[in-house]
Amino acid sequence: MPLANKILIAGPCAAETEQQVLETAQALASFCPIFRAGIWKPRTSPDSFQGIGAEGLGWLQHVKEQTGMLTATEVATPEHIRLALEAGVDYLWIGARTAANPIQVQLLADALAQSAIKPKAVLIKNPVNEDAALWIGNIERLLQASVEVMAVHRGCNHRPCWAMAFEVKRRMPHIPLLLDPSHMSGDAGLIASLSQQAMDLDYDGLMIESHCSPMEALSDAKQQITPVALQAIISHLVLRHASSPDSTLLALRQQIDEIDDELWNLIARRMHIAQQIGDYKRSLQMPVLQVSRYDAILQKRKQWARDNRLSEDLVQQIFDVIHKESVKVQL
Ligand code: PEP
Ligand code: MN
Repeated sequence: MPLANKILIAGPCAAETEQQVLETAQALASFCPIFRAGIWKPRTSPDSFQGIGAEGLGWLQHVKEQTGMLTATEVATPEHIRLALEAGVDYLWIGARTAANPIQVQLLADALAQSAIKPKAVLIKNPVNEDAALWIGNIERLLQASVEVMAVHRGCNHRPCWAMAFEVKRRMPHIPLLLDPSHMSGDAGLIASLSQQAMDLDYDGLMIESHCSPMEALSDAKQQITPVALQAIISHLVLRHASSPDSTLLALRQQIDEIDDELWNLIARRMHIAQQIGDYKRSLQMPVLQVSRYDAILQKRKQWARDNRLSEDLVQQIFDVIHKESVKVQL
């Protein structure tokens, strides 16, 4: 098992024909335990392929019979849940567009709670917009329905939003977190590096789109890879093995903690002085925000960043936060 205890789910964006589904599944089965295929596709345009619909459920049953793989499909309505579970689909996922609507997610959670047949787990993608609180709220709705839940980080606007995923992991450490590098990048060429990043960040697994003929795919053609390409990526992944920190790491962490102490003391001192400046400006009826002073400090710090080989962007971001707070304490 190349991915050790990590979860791997792969298969086409959409089930298109029975032959495409079975050919892809047969090529994946030797290294991937769970087959994914969308049969109801929430597409942007009504003119694009909307998915094969319930007919595809029979094809997923044939995947199980012929390969022994477990199956997963996307659900967006209570009726999808009923049909998929009755057809023996093992895992359900809720897509990013559905995840943007908490009323719809609640309807799905209610349907799951009432269903006599339960899925092995429900996977919930992050909503299309970067909103950790909404993603967490959706996970809570599903947990209340007493089903196993996994979170899938699929990024926003074809970019990772790491901070959002870390927040979910911090708040819900027991919910398995998977990465979907296919929708995160929209680019077959980025699947390998994003999958490795997921392993480096100790994600619990991967959901990756794989199609037997990616160029001919009816949806998401640019991001799908062949099962052979996927197998090569998986076999090259380097897994990190968590172990308890040794004395070297503990000593380095101690230094970081000491630096953080200094940093926070300095920030507190800076805010107290900003308050005094605020009082003084008020007594002189001077406006709080003086853009020329702000710009001068920022330019000086950016030059300092260049001289010290630090990212200018990092300096700008930190300075923006500090300055915003500084203005606030003067108001
Ligand atoms: C999918 O996984 O096929 C899909 C539509 O993903 P998302 O909801 O992340 O766009
Ligand atoms: Mn897709």
